[in-house]
Amino acid sequence: MNILVINAGSSSLKYQLMNPETGALLAKGLCERIGIDGKFTYKPQVEGKEKLDAIDVAMPTHSEAIQTVLNALVDEKNGVIASMDEIEAVGHRVVHGGESFASSVLIDDAVMAAIEECTPLAPLHNPANIIGIEACKAVLGDKVPQVAVFDTAFHQTMPEHAYIYAVPYEYYENDKIRRYGFHGTSHRYVSKRAAEILGKDPAELKIVSCHLGNGSSLAAVSGGRCVDTSMGMTPLAGLPMGTRAGDMDAGVVEFIANKYGYTVSETLNILNKKSGVLGVSGVSSDFRDLESAFKEGNHRAGLALDIFAYRVRKMIAEYAAAMGGVDVVLFTAGVGENSAGTRADILKGLEFMGITCDAEKNKVRGEERIISKDGAPVTVMVVPTNEELMIAMDTMEIARG
Ligand code: ADP
Repeated sequence: MNILVINAGSSSLKYQLMNPETGALLAKGLCERIGIDGKFTYKPQVEGKEKLDAIDVAMPTHSEAIQTVLNALVDEKNGVIASMDEIEAVGHRVVHGGESFASSVLIDDAVMAAIEECTPLAPLHNPANIIGIEACKAVLGDKVPQVAVFDTAFHQTMPEHAYIYAVPYEYYENDKIRRYGFHGTSHRYVSKRAAEILGKDPAELKIVSCHLGNGSSLAAVSGGRCVDTSMGMTPLAGLPMGTRAGDMDAGVVEFIANKYGYTVSETLNILNKKSGVLGVSGVSSDFRDLESAFKEGNHRAGLALDIFAYRVRKMIAEYAAAMGGVDVVLFTAGVGENSAGTRADILKGLEFMGITCDAEKNKVRGEERIISKDGAPVTVMVVPTNEELMIAMDTMEIARG
């Protein structure tokens, strides 16, 4: 049976229809500009079915968007299923589960209320996720189970000393201000997959999982449980990213705000959208552009790449220390899966910890592959992420009770 995976944003909705038992992807696509002028993309993955790219599709709300998706999936000519009955359940990516959710759950009224309660922690994302769930309910009714899979849930096993910020404790008690972490579904999927590839029990492994994409985070996964991660209460923390600054002196916020007359929100907008490798290079947030610019002699593009590699390298060692050792370092997401150069730069200088990079094996893109030298103490590997598959697997398991 098939699972519909939904990732709803405020004016967009990504979807995939897949069978988690076989791993087969039947169709995927995107609704964009919901409430504006509706753009709809449908990419069937079945032989002989044609894709669709439509503009000016009437999608005043997410409900019409979901209906458009379902119509395409069951379309007589280019659909991939005969009827809605072939959708067993719907899995929703939900960004923030706060301290209420340490795993995926079947959605009911109490769960909806708890997701709503987490809204102050993710004011842009959670309301959009709620709208997506409500739209599915409106279109599919109560018969189709719906499951919420949280970006934060995997990190709920962190110990107190890893998640409590060193600010007055009442901010945690009163406002739940603490480290939560994101990309949890990805870190969980790739760390589980790494253990499978190596034929090991996850309980035996200490893994540093490097999710390096447009947004980047590391997770320390010991015995299958997350013990630390680099993003914080918001995704701004940790590594420098495409456009996010990552960790820095909070005093800079006051300095910039005072000097340029910006509000705190305006200053944070700079740290979220204009910083990171884009801010340093002045070239792009895209690592491919930075690599080309550096080859053409652009110093700041090279500097941005150096800063990124340095910070990831330091954090790998930090997380090895957090776990009292490391067996596996894995790379995933856009940069981690595809950029051999960035991986090699990150790994340079970690040989003292038994972490190596075999230049030949490292020539890999988007495939599962061990890239450390033969016989090295630590296994370094590339493991492509698949958050949608993880969501579909959770959803099927929970829907079947
Ligand atoms: P998101 O966080 O938006 O999901 P992705 O995981 O898709 O991001 O990663 C996007 C990043 O991956 C971009 O910065 C892009 O430059 C980088 N990327 C994709 N392919 C390559 C490649 N071949 N070489 C270097 N970087 C790449």
